Amino acid sequence: MKKFIYMIFGMLLACIFILPVSYCNAENTATSEDSNSKVYDLQQNAFKYYQINHKGALGIPISCLCSESEVGDIRKYTVEPKYSESINGNRIEITISQVNVTGSTDNFSSILKDNKYIKDIKLDKLDNNTAKVDIETSGKIDIKVNLVKRRYSSLGDNKYEFTTFIDVTFEEKVKDNSKIIIIDPGHGGSELGTTANFTYEKQLNLDISKRIKENLIKSGYRIYITRDDDSNVGLLNRTDPANLLNADLFFSVHNNSLPLDVNMQCVYMFRGTTVLYNSTAPKPGREFASILMREVSSIVKTNTYPLQDRQSLAVLSSAWCPAVLMETIALTDDGDAKMMMHRINSQKVADASLRAVNKYFNT
Ligand SMILES: [Zn+2]
Repeated sequence: MKKFIYMIFGMLLACIFILPVSYCNAENTATSEDSNSKVYDLQQNAFKYYQINHKGALGIPISCLCSESEVGDIRKYTVEPKYSESINGNRIEITISQVNVTGSTDNFSSILKDNKYIKDIKLDKLDNNTAKVDIETSGKIDIKVNLVKRRYSSLGDNKYEFTTFIDVTFEEKVKDNSKIIIIDPGHGGSELGTTANFTYEKQLNLDISKRIKENLIKSGYRIYITRDDDSNVGLLNRTDPANLLNADLFFSVHNNSLPLDVNMQCVYMFRGTTVLYNSTAPKPGREFASILMREVSSIVKTNTYPLQDRQSLAVLSSAWCPAVLMETIALTDDGDAKMMMHRINSQKVADASLRAVNKYFNT
């Protein structure tokens, strides 16, 4: 009888300890194949840094230039960095394994310039496939490390660039709950946008955006603007600050054009204001889009036409927060263009935008 009890007890122990271990192993071997052996790129000249009131964000880019045959479904593929972090007072060490450090120089001096939170930053290669990022911070701040996935971009020839940022955020200990908004003046530099009625769209976009920025800052919002001069900004670079700073709203400012071959009835219908959003985005911007269109058209007295659901526009599909793109007026329409020649109307658009933002966050 005693032997029998020992046998049952022994079997029970085996069930408790051995079986779960073998299940775990089975799971590990199933997932270890591809993602665990992949060596990604760490481009030392592609680090990102963004700063607003009371907050900064450093993006360490871990990327892969892969073909569709290597990754399968490109919409589902994700770069998964292998890293460990240790935060010790004002030092953060992030050790990243299975990366190949690429790029001849780093851009750390531009990151450190006027940086409120990072005193120094170093990148060391520990061995062929391991790198360490050392960050020295200043002041008493809260530090968090997260992963932020960037939308893939096509490089042609069936090649794609996938990036996941190791996102290190620095927040002052004062509690700042004010909303974070990214203002994005469309085009810039060699990208002129629409040119009509003696106006470059890129210039008008910048003028309106700067006025919106001033208005929002005065009202206590935390603002990052993707360009504040006539420079080129890549499409995904426009939404990186929104994603790395974990913004509440992405607001792109444009002015529209109409194809030359549409009939007069269409020209008449499609002048004025509309706002674009993406209904398939993780957080669609439709609600803000409709408030914004109403406010702008009622203050500037422009014609409106229905909101546009655009699922393939890069800026609307790469932001993780609600994103909209405002076509303020149709620059190709003589009446619209003449009206916007008067800067008082750019200011009115900015005032209407502030009202829309206030309404959106207060409802
Ligand atoms: Zn445009």
